[in-house]
Amino acid sequence: MGTDRSVSEDYGGGAVRYLVTGGAGFIGSHLTDALLARGDEVVVLDDLSTGRLENLKEALATGSVEFVEGSILDAELVDSCTAATDVCLHLAAAVGVQLILEQPLDSLLRNVRGSDVVISSVVKHGGKVLVASSSEIYGKSSGALLGEDSDRILGPTSTSRWAYSMAKAFSEVLANAYASECQAETITVRFFNTVGPRQTGAYGMVMPRFVQQALVGAPLTVYGDGSQTRCFTHVRDVTEAVLRLCDEAAATGKTFNIGSPHQISIADLARRVIERTGSDSEIVMVPYDEAYADGFEEIGCRHPDLSLIARIAGWSPRVTIDEMIDDVIAYNSATAAAAVPADLNEVA
Ligand code: UDP
Repeated sequence: MGTDRSVSEDYGGGAVRYLVTGGAGFIGSHLTDALLARGDEVVVLDDLSTGRLENLKEALATGSVEFVEGSILDAELVDSCTAATDVCLHLAAAVGVQLILEQPLDSLLRNVRGSDVVISSVVKHGGKVLVASSSEIYGKSSGALLGEDSDRILGPTSTSRWAYSMAKAFSEVLANAYASECQAETITVRFFNTVGPRQTGAYGMVMPRFVQQALVGAPLTVYGDGSQTRCFTHVRDVTEAVLRLCDEAAATGKTFNIGSPHQISIADLARRVIERTGSDSEIVMVPYDEAYADGFEEIGCRHPDLSLIARIAGWSPRVTIDEMIDDVIAYNSATAAAAVPADLNEVA
């Protein structure tokens, strides 16, 4: 492991200039806050399609962040942002299974073309780029621990869910190709079900949906039989993982899982949310064909092998599932986001 601030040292020991694409989004805004807190300079590029300026309220109030509203598909704009960038955290993407199934074309183009524009531009200016990928990469898991070099098992191209996996894979292999052919400095991270304050339930993510449903006494909609498991990770832990990797010289050129080793079934999650909110909501089981648009296929479990990031960056997650739920409850109780979208209990 290198020193904590090896990037700063690489850049002369002063503040590092970061570009965060998708910086008004859930994870991007937390990263922006953390970078500002440690004295780095941040430019945020976001088209506000799923991100919200509200997420950057505290960051913008510092006067130390530059916000650029625009698309990662705008090559000229991206180039103007990357010109003075030391490190780019490329998070801008279409996210959420529901959104991806409903708008497959937009999610494909933003992920594939957008990643090409961003990565090639950062590389041209000699910066380092961290590409945000997803556990969707692994496709249908057999239940085994997923290591970064595990095989990917995908369904047919006609099933929209796998298109997202392929789009993310394209970003990954593009970064790898720039690294091997152009000696570019790249890092790829695969997020496993990140949760926490500022995550919206509007695009299907289960934790904020359950919490919002429980807070208003609406039924919690468990899709399928609820036996599918996920390993939820608090955004605070995820932020720490990303920054450690950026600061660690030995992380360059590698791909990392960022997740939690603790699995929980979706049915258990629903029970736990009801318990911790003190809600009298019921749990309803919703068949998948009512829950999602065509092109959906469930993933039974996603269990990350975290040994690589532990070895290279000395990172492992600390926040427990109950603390995650409590944080999401506190956020949704305290903000306007607590207002349940009209369609929260409707299925796609
Ligand atoms: N899910 C659910 N009810 C909801 C939203 C999602 O039971 O209201 C399920 C979904 O089918 C999946 C799990 O929760 O099995 C996690 O879904 P999410 O979209 O949050 O993440 P992903 O499927 O990408 O892991």
